[in-house]
Formats: sequence, structure tokens, C-alpha cells
Amino acid sequence: MSIQDTNSENLLVVRNLKKYFPVRAGFFQKVVANVRAVDDVSFDIKVGETLGLVGESGCGKTTIGRTILRLIEPTSGQALFNGQDVFKQRGRSMKNLRRQMQIIFQDPYASLDPRMPVGESVAEGLRIHGIGSKRDRFEIAVKTLKKVGLEEYHARRYPHEFSGGQRQRIGIARAIALAPDFIVCDEPVSALDVSIQSQVLNILKDLQSELGLTYLFIAHNLSVVEHISHRVGVMYVGKMVELSPREELFRNPLHPYTKALMSAIPVPDPRLKRERMILTGDVPSPLNPPPGCRFHTRCPFAMDRCRMEEPAFREVGPDHWVACFLVE
Ligand code: SF4
Repeated sequence: MSIQDTNSENLLVVRNLKKYFPVRAGFFQKVVANVRAVDDVSFDIKVGETLGLVGESGCGKTTIGRTILRLIEPTSGQALFNGQDVFKQRGRSMKNLRRQMQIIFQDPYASLDPRMPVGESVAEGLRIHGIGSKRDRFEIAVKTLKKVGLEEYHARRYPHEFSGGQRQRIGIARAIALAPDFIVCDEPVSALDVSIQSQVLNILKDLQSELGLTYLFIAHNLSVVEHISHRVGVMYVGKMVELSPREELFRNPLHPYTKALMSAIPVPDPRLKRERMILTGDVPSPLNPPPGCRFHTRCPFAMDRCRMEEPAFREVGPDHWVACFLVE
């Protein structure tokens, strides 16, 4: 993908994003290696779209979300948000961008101050950005809490008084209080009971239609991603290996890793059987990823070429991108 491939429908354009974490050792703390958490990843997200990012833990999906928001600095690459180069912004312009780009964390309890009433937590971003008086901010916080299904009296309560699902609603309220355009949803339902997960996913969907939000939705569970995403990207050891519209990916997965993930999704009808593709071996470390295709150590179809050469990430059908020599 090149930056010229972008069009005006895109809210976010990410090109050749890399994030390496240096490993230091010795008396002088010299860099002796790099953990290649994200290694040359490119994608776009259209206005009002949800792009799901899926993969096993350590594949780099959370690092992508945090790097785009500049919660951590990139090693190289480009991220254009509404045409603005996120990684080049400083001071006031970065602060303005932060207002438009928010995050919902996996563990809402850890992201809430236990000594602060939730109304104040929800209004915190408004205070940081100097929006309204204290009273105005409280009113906005109450309105925002109501948008996620909570009541005015909840604004005066403390985080420990809420259930996990309610705390995640508060996390969502914090993210939308500043009326952002874009939200990174970083495993927002992974810590919740299955019965609560769909409620939270439905709130996110409703808010998307009501407020015109765009999401990057990160999860390790393909069923969750299927429920909410318009397009899905599959990550493996720092690389995007497949990217496609949701229906196409679930109907016609092309990368062997995506096929293995799909085969692990339980089928609700016991009469239907899905052939399980069980992967052997461990996920390689991003500190020392295998040469060639990073999946070759676990791929049942690996050929000699896969061990030496890295497959390009190519468009093989309309908006369907894959990195595998089998799909050339
Ligand atoms: Fe498997 Fe080779 Fe395709 Fe990699 S490039 S997924 S090792 S067949």
C-alpha cells in the first residue's frame, strides 16, 4: 500500500508503521536487540467504519492502537488522521488531535481513579481541555452517562460501587465525553462475562450510528470482532497477514493462520461440524522472529520458499489483502 492509494473517505491512513522496543544490556545499557512489536503495517479506516484487529496476544495489535494515539512513540512510519500527520504534531496541535482520538481500555477499573466520583472521571477530559465551567462539565458528564445507559445518581458514586459491565460503560462515557471522531477500543469486552459482552458491543454500535464514530476495535476473539467490525485485519507476530471486509473474510479466509483461527470458532448447531485446524508449536518471539514468512514454523503448508522469502502483502480480490505465497 502506498500513501497515494488513500482517498477522502478515509479518516485514518496508516503506512509502514513500525514500533520496536529496544532491549538494553550491560553497564552502558547498550541496545543489544529489538522487540519488533509492530513491523511494517499499513491500513486505512474509513469514516464511520469499524476496523477489527485480531490475533493472539503479543501479535502487536494493542501496540498499533497505542502508537496511533501517541501513547507510545512510533519507531517509523506514518499515520494521517483527517489528513494531519499524527506523528509530526507537537504542543497545542497534538492536544487538539488528542481530543478527536480517544481510547477505551480493557480494564476499566484500572483506568478509573478509585478516589474520584465517576462524574468527575467522565468530565476529566473536558477539564483538561478547558471546556465549560465545573457545572457545565458535570451536566455534560451526566448526559454522557445517560447515553451509555447509566443514571444521574451514578455520577456521584465511586468506581468500586459498580459491576464490571457498568465500569466499562463508564469507560465508554469517558471516551465519548469529548465528542471524538475516532476511538481505539482496546479489548473492551475481553474482561467481561459473556452475558455482558453483547450489551457493551451493542452500546458501541448504537453510539457509532448516533455519533458517527469510527473505531479501531482490538480483540483476540474472532466472534467478537465478527459482531462489530465492517472490515477485519488479522495480525501475526507484528505483521498484518490478512485484511478484508468482514463477510468476505468469514466466507473465504485465505491465509492459513486466519483459517486456523476461524476453525476454532465454536459452531452453535451441534449437527454442523467444522474441521478443526490445530496449530502446533509456539508463537515465535517478536524479539527474534523467524526469517521469511513469520508463520512458517507453524504453517501446515510451508514450502522451502516460505523459510527464506517474506511474502508481500498484496490485494488479491476487491479490498482483500493477504501475505501468503499460496495466494499468488
Ligand atoms: Fe504458510 Fe508459506 Fe503461506 Fe506463510 S507463505 S502462510 S508459510 S504457505
